[in-house]
Amino acid sequence: MAFFEVLDKSFVSFVMGNATLKQIATGFDWVEGPVWFGDANCLLFSDIPNNRIMRWIPGLGTSVFREPSNFANGHTRDRQGRLISCEHGARRVTRTAHDGSITVIADSFEGKRLNSPNDVVVKSDGTIWFTDPHYGIMTNYEGQKSQQELPCQVYRVDPDAGTIEAVLTDFACPNGLAFSPDEDRLYVADTGVIFDDSAERHIRVFDVGPDNRLSGGEVFHTISVGFADGFRLDRDGNLWSSAADGVHCINRDGELIGKILVPELVSNVCFGGRAKHQLFITATTSIYMISLNREGVQRP
Ligand code: MG
Repeated sequence: MAFFEVLDKSFVSFVMGNATLKQIATGFDWVEGPVWFGDANCLLFSDIPNNRIMRWIPGLGTSVFREPSNFANGHTRDRQGRLISCEHGARRVTRTAHDGSITVIADSFEGKRLNSPNDVVVKSDGTIWFTDPHYGIMTNYEGQKSQQELPCQVYRVDPDAGTIEAVLTDFACPNGLAFSPDEDRLYVADTGVIFDDSAERHIRVFDVGPDNRLSGGEVFHTISVGFADGFRLDRDGNLWSSAADGVHCINRDGELIGKILVPELVSNVCFGGRAKHQLFITATTSIYMISLNREGVQRP
């Protein structure tokens, strides 16, 4: 069975025809937020509606890592390797230290509560960037229905200075975000206001200047079928995005060059494994994994 669809010949060397798409865990409701811990040889991911973070260890399988998780969604790691998490339920971004203690990174802006932080990245300078759409407070499925106090924005936190700034304010609902390997670009998905079928859903690209100033912001790529929720980049700057029919590989010029075909709707991906050459895919009820001839951005 073919797990790949090649749309441009540049994609041929990215994949191996004999690599298998494996379902490594299943039985969840809506999985998101994959993050690889190479030093612990495990994958963490969120099972959002069931209010828990799961841990998958090769050869051992899946167990509960944290429950309740405050309806955690996206995760990443900071420069020290600590877990950074977006929590719908507590409407905050947290950091989990290696000893398990939890510190709040952000839960408000200008005196108002955040909506429901969705996805997060850490830049090499230690700043923490996250999106804050309203999906986690509009229904009781992925959090608790509650009042929206702020527009859906993208924020940057400097944890050393203790500052938070709204850096992108012209999104309907920002969602996945990721830097290019050399951090000269920031990609941010807009997935539109909830229950609005006419919403424009696309990935925008920003130039990251000195002092982290953003400019540009044109549409980089529009996923079809489905839309981009979460994504990650490989070391050569190709963007691997969630889509309704699998994972789409978009090159730095914004062109779709190939797909990994997945039998469930994909929400997000992350690179992991021994050489960061495996792609872990969160897809509705299951986690899938496939080996690629690519390596993810080493961060941290
Ligand atoms: Mg998301």
